[in-house]
Amino acid sequence: MTAFTTIPSLLALYRIDRDLHEFKNRLAAVMKDQVAIENNITRLNASLQELESAGRKLQATISTHDLDMKTRQEHIEKMRTSLNNAKTNKEYSAILVQISAEKEEVSKIETTILDFMGQLETNNKSATAVRDQLDLAQKSLDDSRQKSSQRVAELQSHLQELEIQRTRAMESVPAESRKQYDRICQRYPGDAMAPVDFNENDMETITCGGCFMGLNIEDVNLLRGRDEIRKCRSCGRILYLPEMLPQQASAS
Ligand SMILES: [Zn+2]
Repeated sequence: MTAFTTIPSLLALYRIDRDLHEFKNRLAAVMKDQVAIENNITRLNASLQELESAGRKLQATISTHDLDMKTRQEHIEKMRTSLNNAKTNKEYSAILVQISAEKEEVSKIETTILDFMGQLETNNKSATAVRDQLDLAQKSLDDSRQKSSQRVAELQSHLQELEIQRTRAMESVPAESRKQYDRICQRYPGDAMAPVDFNENDMETITCGGCFMGLNIEDVNLLRGRDEIRKCRSCGRILYLPEMLPQQASAS
């Protein structure tokens, strides 16, 4: 057993990968709230931009109608002046009809402007509400970042340390075994290996510790006799015997 290198070197790598996976999950859990708040901020900023753009368009439409209304009002004033210069009753009445028509137009435009101003007010209220929500979200993000900054720093430094250990551990694994191991890692991140579970007194029941499917005595014998990779036929994980584990308590 002492001469074997394949499984023991893979086990060392596997234990580091298991920790890496675990600590990456912990970091992701700490960051999860912040990611959710950041997504909310992105969403709020997008709706604020839409509201502001709609507000600018409404303002422009109001200005156009306002200008139109003023031009017509000036026209009415001019026509009123020309009433005094009317030479006949017919001409006088004709101008009155024109004034009345133009007044009606002005009144319609006024209604339209009021309608747009109502829309603008609603739009501005919504924009203010979104700005308030953005302020709150930003505060809660700052808060969350401040609270978790120490924990995040600890986890990141631990992960860096594990990456260094991993690079070192990889150097001891034979190249071909490393390729196989990496392939299985893609399928089972941090969980590429599984112990063969059995009791020396009852070799009838031998199972894979990864998928709990049955294995046989040959798996145990070949693992004990050959320095090579043996995989579970059901789940494909690389098998190891509990006795191959280093004799120290596993770090948690
Ligand atoms: Zn299995």
